[in-house]
Amino acid sequence: MKNNLTDMPQDEFQSNGYLLIDWISKYLNEIEKYPPLSQVNPGEILKQIPQTPPSSGEQIEKILADVDKILIAGITHWNHPGFMAYFNSTSSGPGILAELLTAALGVNGMLWKTSPAFTELENSMMNWFRQMVGLPENYWGIIYDTASTSSMHAIAAAREQLDLNIRERGMTGRNDLPKLILYCSEHAHNSIEKGALTLGIGLDGIRKISVNDKFEMIPAGLENKIKEDISYGYKPFCVVATVGTTSTTSIDPVEDIATIAEKYNLWLHIDSAYAGVTAMIPEMKWITKGWNRADSIVINPHKWMFTPMDLSVFFTRKKDILKRAFSLSAEYLKTNQDSEVDNLMDYGIQLGRRFRSLKLWFIIRYFGVDGLANRIKNHIYLAKELSSWIEDENEFEIMAPTPFSTVCFRFNPKGKSEQELNKLNEELLEKINQSGKIFLSHTKLNGKFTIRLTIGSIRHEKRHIEEAWILIKSLSSQLETKS
Ligand code: PLP
Repeated sequence: MKNNLTDMPQDEFQSNGYLLIDWISKYLNEIEKYPPLSQVNPGEILKQIPQTPPSSGEQIEKILADVDKILIAGITHWNHPGFMAYFNSTSSGPGILAELLTAALGVNGMLWKTSPAFTELENSMMNWFRQMVGLPENYWGIIYDTASTSSMHAIAAAREQLDLNIRERGMTGRNDLPKLILYCSEHAHNSIEKGALTLGIGLDGIRKISVNDKFEMIPAGLENKIKEDISYGYKPFCVVATVGTTSTTSIDPVEDIATIAEKYNLWLHIDSAYAGVTAMIPEMKWITKGWNRADSIVINPHKWMFTPMDLSVFFTRKKDILKRAFSLSAEYLKTNQDSEVDNLMDYGIQLGRRFRSLKLWFIIRYFGVDGLANRIKNHIYLAKELSSWIEDENEFEIMAPTPFSTVCFRFNPKGKSEQELNKLNEELLEKINQSGKIFLSHTKLNGKFTIRLTIGSIRHEKRHIEEAWILIKSLSSQLETKS
C-alpha cells in the first residue's frame, strides 16, 4: 500500500528513463530500416489496443515493448531521411532533450508569476530569433503552437485595429458593421481561410488574388479587388503575403503588397511558416525585403529548424493591438506584477502555455546560428542540385522555380495528353510511396498533377537525394514500359 498513492519511485524513474533514452537513440540511429510512410490500413492499430483501460498498473518496459509491437507499424516517420513530403518537421537531439525537460518542469506559463523564467526566456528567445532573421527592434515576438494559430491571431489583431468595437459588441445582430474583406493569393495556405472563418469573416469575405506564372501574387490584381470592394461599400482590412507558399514555395512581392496595404490602411501579415528560417542565411536575406513594413510575421521553427512539433514564432510591431484583442483578466488571475511584466495569456486565445522556448534555447545554443544556417543552406544547395538533374532529364519537367528546398516536378514522356500525364504522375507517386523507401507528396499547378520533394530534414545527406532520384527514375521507366 505504501507506494500506491505516490508517483513512480525515483530509482524506477531513473532506470526507465535510461531505457527510454536508449530506445530513442536506437530508433533514430536505425530509422532508415523503417518505411518512411506507414503502410497500415485504417483501423489496424486501433484493433490492437485494448478497448478498456487496465485497472491495475503495468511496467514501462511492457508499454515500451508495445510501442514496438503495436505502434511502430502505424508511425509515419517524419524523422526518416526518406520523408520528403509536405514540409519536413524533424526533431534534433537538443530539441528532444528540451521536450523532456519541458515535461519534467511541467510549467504552465500563463502569467509571469506562474514561472518568471518561462516568460523571460520566451522574451529572450524572441529577441534572439528576431535578430537571427534580421527584423528591427520594434518587433515583439511570442510563441504559439502552429502557424495556423499565429495567423489567426494576426487576423484577430487586424480586425481589432479597425476600431469597430467588435471586442465589446461582437459581429452578429449589428447593422452598423461593413462587410470585412481579407486578401491573400490563391496559393496562400488554407490556415488563412480557417483563421478568417474562426473570426466571423466568412469564406465570402476572403479574396484570393491571382498569381503570375511563378505563382506569385499579382499586386495589380490585389489593388483592383480592393477598389472594387470599396466601391461596394465593403471594408478591406487585412492582406496576407506568403513568403514560401505551400505548393511551390513561391514568394509574393512583399514590397509592392506593403505599398498597397499602406495606401488602403490594411494590416499586412506575412506567412513565412516554412521559408522564414532561411532569413538567417546571409545569401538569403533578400527574402526579407519589405518585412519591416509588415504588421505581423509568422515563422515556424518546427518546420525547418529541427524543432520537435510544435513551435511557431509570431512577430508583430503592434503588440498593443494584439493585447487589446485578447486580454481579459479575472480576479483569480490578478497578480501584483501585472503593471510591470508581460503576462503571456494576454496575447492570445489560450490561458495555459507549454514551455516551448526551452526548445529554442537548447537548439540555438547547441547548433549556434551558423550551425543552423549552414544546415539549412545545404538543403537549398541539394534542392538546386536535384532541380538540375531533373532539368537534364528529357522525360521530366520542373513545374515551378525552386527558391528554397522544395522541388516541384512531373514525369513527362512525349506524346501524352494532359489528362494522361496527370494519371501517370498520380500512379508514379503511388508507386514511389509504396516503395517503402521515400515519401513524397503532391499538388496541382494549373490543373497539372505535380510531385513535390522537400529537403529539410536534419538527417538529409546528399546520398538520400541521389537515391531518391534514382528510385523515381527507375519507377517511372517501369510505368512507361507498362503503358
Ligand atoms: N503556412 C504555410 C505557408 C504552410 O506551408 C503551412 C503548413 O504547411 C502552414 C501555414 C500551417 O502550418 P501549421 O501546421 O504550423 O499550422
